[in-house]
Amino acid sequence: MVLQPQLKILIGRDEIAKAVNKLAREIERDYQDKQPLLVSVLKGSFMFTADLIRQIDLPLELDFVRLSSYGPARESSGKVRITQGVKTPIKGRDVLVVEDIIDTGITISFLLDYLKNKQPASLKVCTLTDKPSRRRVPVPIDYRGLTVSNRFIVGYGLDCDQKFRNLPDIYTLED
Ligand code: 5GP
Repeated sequence: MVLQPQLKILIGRDEIAKAVNKLAREIERDYQDKQPLLVSVLKGSFMFTADLIRQIDLPLELDFVRLSSYGPARESSGKVRITQGVKTPIKGRDVLVVEDIIDTGITISFLLDYLKNKQPASLKVCTLTDKPSRRRVPVPIDYRGLTVSNRFIVGYGLDCDQKFRNLPDIYTLED
């Protein structure tokens, strides 16, 4: 693929793989003798989720939610909607949310409230990337892969206007 000049590599595939492996080891250790239900947030987390679950040796289950918070632009609208809810019963389950990025925290807070209402036995958050400098709502992050500075990133599932999700590395997108 011919890369565009506004893309600058930020996190290469080897560093991503290392972070994913570290998260998998932590999750495996904490959920020994459990059957966690991983809830992956579409679409951005699909690649991370696929890599993560292949590294976790537990009898886990997987479900997906789809949320909309961003419009076509790069700023969150601040208004979150669930466009596809979980299909698996949550009550009494050990639920682990799998996110691609936590930015302001608005989206994940909304999702955590939605899941809490369904009375899981436990509820934790795993994110591949975290942008703490942008946080507007406090978020309890149990498993954090990589901390990134305040720049818009794409690749490895993350998009801009639905593009760049297929890139195997993470790039910053400059104006
Ligand atoms: P929050 O509600 O935490 O501000 O935003 C979370 C969602 O915004 C993420 O799931 C992701 O879809 C999107 N987002 C936030 N920052 C970025 C970024 O740097 N790049 C991309 N591609 N999406 C982002």
